Amino acid sequence: MSQNPVTLACPSCHRKNRLPAERLTDVSRCGACKSPLFTGHPLSLDQTAFSAHSQVDLPLVVDFWASWCGPCRQFAPVFEQTAVAMEPHVRFGKINTEEQQQLAARFAIRSIPTLMIFRAGKEVARLSGALPAQQFRQWVSQHM
Ligand SMILES: [Zn+2]
Repeated sequence: MSQNPVTLACPSCHRKNRLPAERLTDVSRCGACKSPLFTGHPLSLDQTAFSAHSQVDLPLVVDFWASWCGPCRQFAPVFEQTAVAMEPHVRFGKINTEEQQQLAARFAIRSIPTLMIFRAGKEVARLSGALPAQQFRQWVSQHM
């Protein structure tokens, strides 16, 4: 087992937490605000939250979506189920491109859904269009 610490951000206060990798699977709480570090749901990300969760060791998978987008609505349960299955080794977040236009512009999102993976402040992977659950999970695993 690796003793390397992993950094991750708290879903509530966005402070950075550092945990030994093997403790990720324990029920962990934020050192600052004591909120759970994982909720079993994708986080809804604004600029502050995106910045906190994309600049840590824990990979962040983002779904750029919009309420008017049919394929986005169809994909939402797949994204939710994958979050439940892959936490706490991966963080899942959603960016509403209508509410977060600056983030959508920053990453030049031209079609939705667009799926992206970030780690330690870097874009690791990008995919346009939804995938069936199994392929989506494989795609995320490939980039871990
Ligand atoms: Zn916290």
